[in-house]
Amino acid sequence: MQTRRDFLQKITGSVIATSLLPRMAQALPLTTRPYEGPVLRVAILGLGSYATRVADAMQSCTKAKLVGAISGTPAKLTAWQAKYNIPAKNCYNYETFDQVKDNPDIDAVYVITPNALHHDQIIRVAKAGKHAISEKPMAVNAKEGQEMVDACKQAGVKLLVGYRMHFEPHTLEIIRQRKANQYGKITFFQGLCGFRIGDPAQWRLNHALAGGGSMMDIGIYAVNGARYMTGEEPSWITAQETKTDPVKFKEGVDETIQFQFGFPSGATASCLSSYNMNFLDRFFLDGTDGYAELWPSTGYGPIKGRTNKGELDQPIVVHQTLQMDEFADILLEGHQPVVPVDGEEAIKDLKIIDAIYLAARTGQKIALNL
Ligand code: NDP
Repeated sequence: MQTRRDFLQKITGSVIATSLLPRMAQALPLTTRPYEGPVLRVAILGLGSYATRVADAMQSCTKAKLVGAISGTPAKLTAWQAKYNIPAKNCYNYETFDQVKDNPDIDAVYVITPNALHHDQIIRVAKAGKHAISEKPMAVNAKEGQEMVDACKQAGVKLLVGYRMHFEPHTLEIIRQRKANQYGKITFFQGLCGFRIGDPAQWRLNHALAGGGSMMDIGIYAVNGARYMTGEEPSWITAQETKTDPVKFKEGVDETIQFQFGFPSGATASCLSSYNMNFLDRFFLDGTDGYAELWPSTGYGPIKGRTNKGELDQPIVVHQTLQMDEFADILLEGHQPVVPVDGEEAIKDLKIIDAIYLAARTGQKIALNL
């Protein structure tokens, strides 16, 4: 199984993404008839390893098309023009990309840069009058997230976040079964998210660019998953941080955080976010009448799920292909996804992460009203 954890341990980017292409061939055809509806024309900003994965996956999209690229590295722009057939007139750098506002051939810009850069870049995209797509975490705190939402509202553009699991078939089937009361009253969720991070010099271990440590990068999946798996918002939070390597994980860069949620129904959650433990990629949902498990739960796949009634046999998909086609439906046709992927959804995660950091720092139980 290939996971993003393996992937990040052996950083770096595009070489690895290319090696994953055979797995992407597992993508199911999304339609059997030629598609004749509107197509979302996307420019990607920040041509790193995840951007390359998204660009490769977009080659199989029906409703979304990669048409532009924005980069601080001229050689990457040249390479992307050749590899993805992107016209030079749709390529920009970080100084010039506000000019995208005069480019009628681009509908949306997908920002895939280090976390702390999303805020300013998304606001510039909004001011250029284009729909904005941000990678997760949308921002490094809820205040910055709110500013991004406000800027997009003010500019009259939509803001979406790359929550690819919100479209993943096993995940959606468990949500469907939970809503159909198949597990009875939900009592407990466990989310384990982590991997051992490699290169100590990478931006993920630099607070100024990452905004934190494992919580911002991988713990956010447990935060977000606790919400969509239980169908509730946490009303209190406690958290504990442990650090075994303060040289690699400096001040403001969390190595491992355990955190707990209480929900209004009385259900609880217990989660683990780590940059120093391998094989953490598991969700477990417990109810009075049944249970569900996703393991792996948020890696690139294949995702596997089972319940007290047996294995789930939902289709294996390429997450990024599906996500971009769904984003096209949302942005062009006003489609409402089962689990939201908009800026308001991301602000909830950021408020929770702010509270987790506060709880870990102070040892206090933090009340939340989302
Ligand atoms: P990479 O380091 O591989 O790529 C980031 C790119 O951002 C760089 O290649 C560079 O592109 C650009 N960039 C601009 N300024 C800087 C800077 N100061 N330092 C470093 N890079 C800079 O990171 P990833 O692609 O792994 O992650 C990017 C974002 O995507 C993060 O927010 C991450 O959380 C998210 N992500 C989401 C995943 C998911 O499954 N949804 C999986 C992996 C990442 P250029 O040279 O073109 O300017």
